[in-house]
Formats: sequence, C-alpha cells, structure tokens
Amino acid sequence: KSVAAAQKTYTIGTDVTFAPFEFANQDNKYVGIDLDLIKAIAKTEGFKVEIKPLGFNAAVQALEAKQIDGVIAGMSITPERQQKFLMSDPYYKSGVVMAVAKKGTIKSLKDLRGKRVAVKTGTDSADYANSIKDKYGFSTVTFDDSNNMYQDVITGNSAACFEDQPVMQYGINNGMALKIIGKPAREGSYGFAASKNNRALITKFNAGLKKLRANGQYDKIIERYLGNGS
Ligand code: GLN
Repeated sequence: KSVAAAQKTYTIGTDVTFAPFEFANQDNKYVGIDLDLIKAIAKTEGFKVEIKPLGFNAAVQALEAKQIDGVIAGMSITPERQQKFLMSDPYYKSGVVMAVAKKGTIKSLKDLRGKRVAVKTGTDSADYANSIKDKYGFSTVTFDDSNNMYQDVITGNSAACFEDQPVMQYGINNGMALKIIGKPAREGSYGFAASKNNRALITKFNAGLKKLRANGQYDKIIERYLGNGS
C-alpha cells in the first residue's frame, strides 16, 4: 500500500535477556513474546517500530528522558510507573518469586538471614526484595541483566535471587540450575509503556492488543514460545 511510506516509526526499548519475552536467538536476532506482540500490533494499527535492546533499566531511563517512545520489556504495571508514564492495558500476568541454587539448602525466606541476595536494577522484584530485606536480615547486590543475576546464584556468590515467575520458570524449564521457592508475591500484569507525550501510541497499542486477542493471534504468539503448558 502506498500509505506505508507515511507510517510513523516509533522507537521501542526492550530488555536484553528476558526469555520468553525478549532474547537473542541462535542467529543473534531478538525474538520473544514482547517483540512479536509489538510487531503484530504495529502491523494491525499501521505504524513501524525500531527495536532497541537497551537492557531493562536503561530502557526505562531512556523512556523517562523521552529518548525513546515506548518500552516493551515484561514491564510490570505499578502505581509509580503509571504516574511517570502512560501504561497500556495488561497483556500478561506475572508475579515475583524467589529462586535458589537447585542443589542448595535454602528452603524459605527465613534461611536468607545474613546472606547476600541478587536483584536486577530498576525492577519491581528488586523493589520487593528491598522491602523485605530488613525483616529477613539479608543484603542485596544488583545486576543489570537477568543472566548475570542467575549466574551469581548458580555459582553460590548469592544465596538467592528475585525474579518474575514466568521468566524464572521458563529458564528453569530450559535447564537453568535454579529452583523456585514459595509462591509468587506482588501478583500483577505486564504492560507496554509510552512517554506521556505519546498518548496516540498507547491508544494504538490497546486497540491492536484487543484485535489480536479477538482474532487468535495473541494466543498463537504465546504458544510459539510457551507451547503446551510450559
Ligand atoms: N517485571 C519486572 C519489572 O517490571 C522486571 C522486568 C524486566 O526485568 N525486564 O520491574
């Protein structure tokens, strides 16, 4: 269609390693639920996207500085973020879980006393860990991406990490030597975020999401990465 030339391009920041939502595949291409969703929505609503895998915290900072138009990065909808940004309708349910070394001895939050816990900069799970660390007597150390955070636990430098349940479960299902302890805290949903001057982008995202849910494309995208029940 000739209108294609006139389509607006939005710059969208994302995380670097947050499978199944965004990750580099074997061909070093960024794939995942978030990327397929935003691309399908762009197609439906007639806009273009330029994806920037900046890392989670860097992406959120860039959005705050209005250097990019939006963020799709398994980003939890929180009241604080709804103040700073425009956030879309929820598109995926999540919650925060604690994970420990698969062969380790940590069985509950109480076992974290005096220990070091790995968290990821700028995330809701880091915020959660920091909110309970005095009560349970642990300290936190921050990492900029999920993989480095997991490695710190696997090598035994940290006793545990806090991560989003669907992401942690996916990693474990794919061979990560960690296990989840307890039930998810802070249950909520992921949303797409745009800077406050991008109301039109959020409107398009919500409209597109609704269409993808109605026509089965949303389910197909989820199935592409999670298959049956994984
Ligand atoms: N859902 C979490 C948050 O929004 C983590 C996101 C991420 O690490 N990409 O803070």
